[in-house]
Order: sequence, then C-alpha cells, then structure tokens
Amino acid sequence: MIKTTAAICVAPNVPLEIDTLTVDGPGPGEVLVEIVASGLCHTDLTALEGVNASSVYPLIPGHEGAGRVVEVGLGVTTLCIDDHVIPLYGPECGECSMCRSKRTNLCWTIKPTRDRGVMPDGTSRFMRGNKPVHHFMGTSTLSRYTVVPEIALAKIRKDAPLDKVCLFGCGVTTGVGAALAHVRPGDKVAVFGLGGIGVNIIQGARIAGASRIIGIDISSAKTELATSYGMTDFIRPGPDAPDPVVAIRDLTGGGVDVAFECTGVLGVMRQSLDCCVPAWGVSVLLGVEPSGSELSFPPVQVRYGKSIVGSYFGGIKGRTGLPGLIDRFMEGEIDLDRQITHRLQLHEVNEGFHLMKQGKSVRSVVMFE
Ligand code: NAD
Ligand code: ZN
Repeated sequence: MIKTTAAICVAPNVPLEIDTLTVDGPGPGEVLVEIVASGLCHTDLTALEGVNASSVYPLIPGHEGAGRVVEVGLGVTTLCIDDHVIPLYGPECGECSMCRSKRTNLCWTIKPTRDRGVMPDGTSRFMRGNKPVHHFMGTSTLSRYTVVPEIALAKIRKDAPLDKVCLFGCGVTTGVGAALAHVRPGDKVAVFGLGGIGVNIIQGARIAGASRIIGIDISSAKTELATSYGMTDFIRPGPDAPDPVVAIRDLTGGGVDVAFECTGVLGVMRQSLDCCVPAWGVSVLLGVEPSGSELSFPPVQVRYGKSIVGSYFGGIKGRTGLPGLIDRFMEGEIDLDRQITHRLQLHEVNEGFHLMKQGKSVRSVVMFE
C-alpha cells in the first residue's frame, strides 16, 4: 500500500477536492502506474456535472494520462517495471469476439466493473481514510498513482515525451483516428465543436487529404489553432447569424461528404446529419450525450443514402493501435504542442475545468512532475 495525491469528485457539481489517499498494490492482472501528466477532457466534466452514466461517487476522474509502471500484479506478462504506458478507458483483452473482429475497437471484457467504478474483482484500490473512492473509466489518471488492469494499458516507446503523449489517452487518438477512418482524399468536411476532439479531427482530416474543412463553434477562441491545423472556413452560430446548416450547404454547393459532431449537444448531432450531402454524406457522432437522451431525424435522409455512425476512441484498438499512432507524432506528422493551451499543477485542476467550460482551453495538461 502506498500514498497518492489525487483529485476527488465527492458528488456532482461541487469543486474537486485534492487529498492524500492510499492505493492498494495491484491485484492479479493489474498494474500500479505512476502518472506523469494527464490532460483534461470534456468527458471528465460530464462526471463532474453528474450527467455521465458510468460515474459512481466519490470518484477520481481523469482518462488522458501517461506514466510509468511501478509494480505489476500476479500473472502480468506483457509489462515490466519502468515501462512507459498510456491507460486505456477502452481495454483490449485480445481474446474476446470484439477484439478478434476487425469491425470494432470495443472490448467489453471488464466493462461491467469499469462502469461501476471498481477493478475487475469488484473492489476499489483507492481508500480515503477508511472509505473506498471509486475509479473512473478504469483509469483515474488525476491521481499520482493509479491501478489499471494490464489489458487496459498500452505500452509505448520510451523516447516519446510523457507530458505530451498523454493526449493520446483520449483527445488525439479520438480525433485523428476518427478522421483517418472516415475522410477520403478530396472530401469536404464539417467539424462541429473545436475543442480537443474537434481540432484533432481537423488535423486528421488534413492528413487524410480533405479539400475543405469547415469548423463550427459558438466560440471563436480556437479559430487560430484550428486554422493552423487545416481548417479552411469558420462558422460561428448565434442568434444573429445564419443557420449553420444553411451556411455549410451554401459554402459547399449542397453539403459535406463527412460531418463530425464533437459537442455532445443533441441539436448539433441533428445539424451534423442535416448538413451532409444527400446521397452519401456520413455524420459521425463523437460527443457524449446527457445520459438517457434520444436523437430524432427524418428517416428519409437515411433512406436516400446518408448514414449516421459513431466513433469511440477514434476506432483505434488501444494496445495494438496506439504505438503506431505515436510513431506518427514522433515523425512530425501529428502536432501536440499547439493544442496544449495550459499546463497546470494538480491543485489548479478546478481552474482547468473552469477554462474548459468557458471554451478558453483546448487541452489543459495537469503535471505531476
Ligand atoms: P471541449 O469542451 O473541449 O469542446 C467542445 C466545443 O464545442 C467547445 O469549443 C464549445 O464552444 C463547442 N460547442 C458547444 N456547443 C456548441 C454548439 N451548439 N455548436 C457548436 N459548437 C459548440 O470538449 P472535447 O473534450 O473536445 O469533447 C467534445 C465531445 O466529445 C464531448 O461530448 C466529449 O464527452 C466527447 N468525447 C467523445 C469521445 C469518443 O471517443 N467518442 C472521446 C472524448 C470525448
Ligand atoms: Zn476523453
């Protein structure tokens, strides 16, 4: 058992508390990881705001981290002490029907316990005093030390800077991966929401050879970054502005080939379908909707050829797919520096989420070293 400092969400809509907790050593098949850096993602905010269905309080948020292996549990064969790792909220056991299929990157081997905020044996490794604190997304990277199942850790090359490649734990992989999976050379693309996910879709769409990339955001704070990543046009919806769907159709002569939704707002999901070209446009939904909500749309749009698909972690299988994507960063194809708008210490974490809510940050990275 060791001590850790962590951010704790005791209940929805109250500031995170920073406290010292104890972490039990890794159980069988588990690994103790020392986190070096962790980016803040909007999905953490959904847990803080009480609209994430897989949150059991109190919990330690964070799912965009990178660190080093400190200790391995019984039966762990693929990781050693000092390996560099990225915790995965989507594990890859390699054996289930999903892992064996090329059609999905999902692996639900440990999903039931992960969604209840505990390790696969049904218990938490974190204790505050004599009360357990729950894991979140199976990662809890806003803790200096965290325990993660072996199947939920991607081993990465040691020369990759951990204080940057932590972003591959979510935002970069999700955005770049989704764009590479859906954009073809010459495509016209719309990206709704220019946060950490949206800007990475833009850089992925540019890499994939998109001819036009239209960004849509209610805030203009990120237009400079988005433009540097490849955005060609920007639309800022508002009470006095034209409907973004009409504006996109006007700009493209009828609609985009692929539209990505990265806000989690139901109305925007509908816009991302409406702005696609009728016969083959694809609306890719990435945003996490408030739990329990439903989306409606006229079926005729789909009957004539549009499709609605989703993307989870960019469609990348974590353990086998992440190292190759990190190579592309190390070779200079993917940028991380410009999207890290803020670096914070753990005690400043509430400020990080405040910046996110105000739309002022793209990625804030909490530094543990
Ligand atoms: P973010 O808060 O950094 O960015 C969201 C952006 O959307 C902001 O710039 C905001 O101004 C903009 N926005 C809000 N309402 C809008 C509207 N009506 N029209 C246009 N723009 C609007 O969030 P993020 O970290 O980039 O995450 C985006 C979404 O993706 C969240 O819902 C998050 O939970 C989800 N997410 C999904 C996956 C996945 O695997 N599918 C992974 C990570 C995050
Ligand atoms: Zn995320």
